[in-house]
Amino acid sequence: MKLIDPIIAFQSELQQIRRDLHAHPELCYEEERTADVVCAKLTEWGIPFERGLGKTGVVGIIRNGTSERAIGLRADMDALPMQEINTFAHASKHPGKMHACGHDGHTAMLLGAAHHLARHRNFDGTVYLVFQPAEEGGAGAREMIKDGLFERFPMDAIYGMHNWPGMAQGELGACEGPMMASSNEFHVTVRGKGAHAAQPHKGIDPIMIAVQIAQAWQTIVTRNKSPLDTAVLSITQIHAGSATNVIPDDAKLVGTVRTFTTEVLDMVERRMQALAQGIAAAFDAQVEFTFRRNYPPLVNHAKETRFALGVMQSVVGESMVDANVEPTMGAEDFAFFLQEKPGCYIFIGNGEGDHRDGGHGLGPCVLHNASYDFNDRLLPIGASFWVHLAEAALPQALRQPGTA
Ligand SMILES: [Zn+2]
Ligand SMILES: [Zn+2]
Repeated sequence: MKLIDPIIAFQSELQQIRRDLHAHPELCYEEERTADVVCAKLTEWGIPFERGLGKTGVVGIIRNGTSERAIGLRADMDALPMQEINTFAHASKHPGKMHACGHDGHTAMLLGAAHHLARHRNFDGTVYLVFQPAEEGGAGAREMIKDGLFERFPMDAIYGMHNWPGMAQGELGACEGPMMASSNEFHVTVRGKGAHAAQPHKGIDPIMIAVQIAQAWQTIVTRNKSPLDTAVLSITQIHAGSATNVIPDDAKLVGTVRTFTTEVLDMVERRMQALAQGIAAAFDAQVEFTFRRNYPPLVNHAKETRFALGVMQSVVGESMVDANVEPTMGAEDFAFFLQEKPGCYIFIGNGEGDHRDGGHGLGPCVLHNASYDFNDRLLPIGASFWVHLAEAALPQALRQPGTA
């Protein structure tokens, strides 16, 4: 691996930062202390910044030379509302809150890059360090955009990185095009007419209608979309009734839809509504249909992905780069950035969990697991990758021999 020596030497400080953040997790839009830590480090290292984008977001600014070119490097900062079961020294001190997605590590890796870029300045242009709040369901990326991220900090491209358990430790990867799915939720209420369960003919049974809607929806995935497109329609809750001898007034269907394109999503939403309304109407019932689009599909741009893959190969070697990462139906709000700017979202392998030398709880080291922990060995790898990426995107015109 072509890691950067001063970053390797900085590893213990980065690990300290990462473990401090891990011990003090904060949820969506509450990342005040986390932002304080980020800003304190940026201040210490002489890096100007602006606070308050997307409420708790921070953007650090490192300029060098005269070029107008600029890139954004993004780390998310928020934790999850869940109880950590790890017992190591840096386990969460906040009950019911945990860094179970590794955003503590993402923040520390970007700080590691910031420290090096500010000191060594082997680039010509501007690097924007985007510390984003509220990735876990809060759409912090969208809120930073609304607060003028790309107007105030005009950048040619933006890159993000997420650790990925199960991928080899330090392996890097991405794929062109859709890499993560759109995330959407539906809440549908069938309004029938309650009756005595022994006299069903005097009511309109919403349960039978809900069951028919549930079955009909599955034909959207199998009969309405191309077999080559991907979509998931999962009904995750059905609620109705409260007694064995009562037909209730209504029944609720709740769940999630995932797709890789907006076109397929438009079709799925349209067909779900048409089937629900048509089936309900056929039984003289009403339907209330709510469909919420949370995160759009994450679509990596071809040119920036090829560029990032080239940098990955130069840092960790070809055998440690997966240029065709298998897309996942999980969602990620970095997708909002990629709707506005070219860029690429990158996975960095968190390994198989053997970075935890005892003291951890049960279960694998997968994301959102109560015994998860970010792998600190990634800190110099991720930080070195960020630096190489910035230096390659913003090359100095007249590089003097020996200064690189
Ligand atoms: Zn997560
Ligand atoms: Zn995450």
